[in-house]
Amino acid sequence: MKHLETDLIHAGTEFNSTKAVVTPIFQTSTYFADENPEKYIEAATQPKHPEFYHRHGNPTNSQVAAILAKLEKTEEAIVLATGMAAISTAILAAVKSGDHVIAQNSHYSGAMLFLKDFLSEYGIEVTHVDQTDNSSFVEAIRPNTKLIYIETPSNPNLDITDLAFVGKLGKEKGILTMVDNTFASPINQVPTEFGIDVVIHSATKYLGGHSDLTAGAVCGPKEFIEKVWRKSITLGASLSPFDSWLLLRGLKTLSLRVKQINHNALALAQFLEQNKAIRKVTYTGLSSHPQYELAAKQMKGHTGMLCIEVAGKDENEEFRNAQTILNNLKLFANAASLGGVESLVVHPASMWGTHHSASQKKISGITLGMLRISVGIEHIDDLIADWQQAIDKI
Ligand SMILES: *Cc1c(COP(=O)(O)O)cnc(C)c1O
Repeated sequence: MKHLETDLIHAGTEFNSTKAVVTPIFQTSTYFADENPEKYIEAATQPKHPEFYHRHGNPTNSQVAAILAKLEKTEEAIVLATGMAAISTAILAAVKSGDHVIAQNSHYSGAMLFLKDFLSEYGIEVTHVDQTDNSSFVEAIRPNTKLIYIETPSNPNLDITDLAFVGKLGKEKGILTMVDNTFASPINQVPTEFGIDVVIHSATKYLGGHSDLTAGAVCGPKEFIEKVWRKSITLGASLSPFDSWLLLRGLKTLSLRVKQINHNALALAQFLEQNKAIRKVTYTGLSSHPQYELAAKQMKGHTGMLCIEVAGKDENEEFRNAQTILNNLKLFANAASLGGVESLVVHPASMWGTHHSASQKKISGITLGMLRISVGIEHIDDLIADWQQAIDKI
């Protein structure tokens, strides 16, 4: 078995049937039929066949999927148009009307909408549990529980779910386990090493890494990925040839980027933690994180995601101070998304104000003075200096 840095460059190259060193963009919707009818039937029916019709597959998609399956140590993977396409298609491949799902109190906002609103309209019940309390997963199990859906570290407040516990529970009870591994990236966390069955990514984030594409991935056992593929050809969220090619290009530097991002984020977290203008820093790489030991056990690095709460004498002042910082940062763009080479910052309470009810925000731990930071690969001294000058404006 090769190392992941090598797989990022060389895995899946068998899907490039040309002489070009760099896999070309297969900008075509359809492919010539094979003269041999047996072969044509195979192309039309085989899951993810790379040369039949784009919704079924594409050579670049197959190459990207082969790399991701190596990284996540699964038999197979499939790439789709967005992270949400990956989440919704994978969940719909796992459950049907009458089934029950266990999920967390805190999830990526789009996933939360899907779990809370969409699934209930189709007769699938979802119980939300505290991800930091292992026993709450056990207590939520019902005879019709078919899926445990988790996310760790979770968005935005970086709570950790015990992967080994959930993986073992799923195996014991015969329940499929699925994790959104977007925040960690496979460089920092490989959930299948802890017994999790299926790994989901918004490849829009770290995997693509340059904020220039949207994509999603589902990695898992061959049999399950075939089910996801079957759902995907009717739901139709196939990844475009160009975005797939950009993703392939981005993946080549994944390991380099994430290592630099891990390094920068820890340094920024340490700087902010000792700054009086900041009341609280949540970062899985700081010993002050309430689940620091669990994070250290299951993560190889701590990602570029951190959450801070700006200090103030009350909630309103915290909100104003957070806005002052947000408006004065120059290198950190105030923009949704994360995981790119450029640093970003968002105010979760504003971003999700319309989606989350007040009580849901409370459960998700979103406060008025909270800022979520995605650290990029700029020089760390410049990033720290940018925060210092913005804090000085308060
Ligand atoms: C962004 C994100 C998603 C959704 O991905 P899209 O590519 O935007 O559809 C899902 N999960 C997490 C954790 C995310 O950060």
